[in-house]
Amino acid sequence: MGFLRKMRAAFHDDWCGKCQSQMAETGRQLYMLPVTVDHYTPHRDADFFIGNMRKVSVKAEIPTGFYACGAISYRCPECGHRMVKLSVFLPVRDQELPEDVICFENGEMDAFLWQ
Ligand SMILES: [Zn+2]
Repeated sequence: MGFLRKMRAAFHDDWCGKCQSQMAETGRQLYMLPVTVDHYTPHRDADFFIGNMRKVSVKAEIPTGFYACGAISYRCPECGHRMVKLSVFLPVRDQELPEDVICFENGEMDAFLWQ
C-alpha cells in the first residue's frame, strides 16, 4: 500500500483500493466483541474477529462495558473490488467511542459475515 493510498484511506476509507473509485455499501451487521472496556488490543488478523464476534440485532443487546464491532461491506461499482470494514467501538449511553478500524480487502471475512 503506497503512502498516498494510506493518506486517502485515512480520510476516505470507502474508496476502492484498486481504482480509487468511491465504493458502494452492500451490507452491514452489528456484532459484540466479548472484550471488556480498556482490554482491547489492536488486531489485524481476521481470525481474531471470526473467532470472537457475536452477532447482535441492536446495540442494546451488548452488555455494558463490552465492545461492539460494526461490519460494513463495500463493492466497487467500477472494478468489482470488494472490501469489509470493521469498526470497533465502545457503546457508552448514546455515544460510540471509536477504538479501532480494520479493513479486509481479500475476502477474509466474507464467509463469516454473510453466512
Ligand atoms: Zn475499483
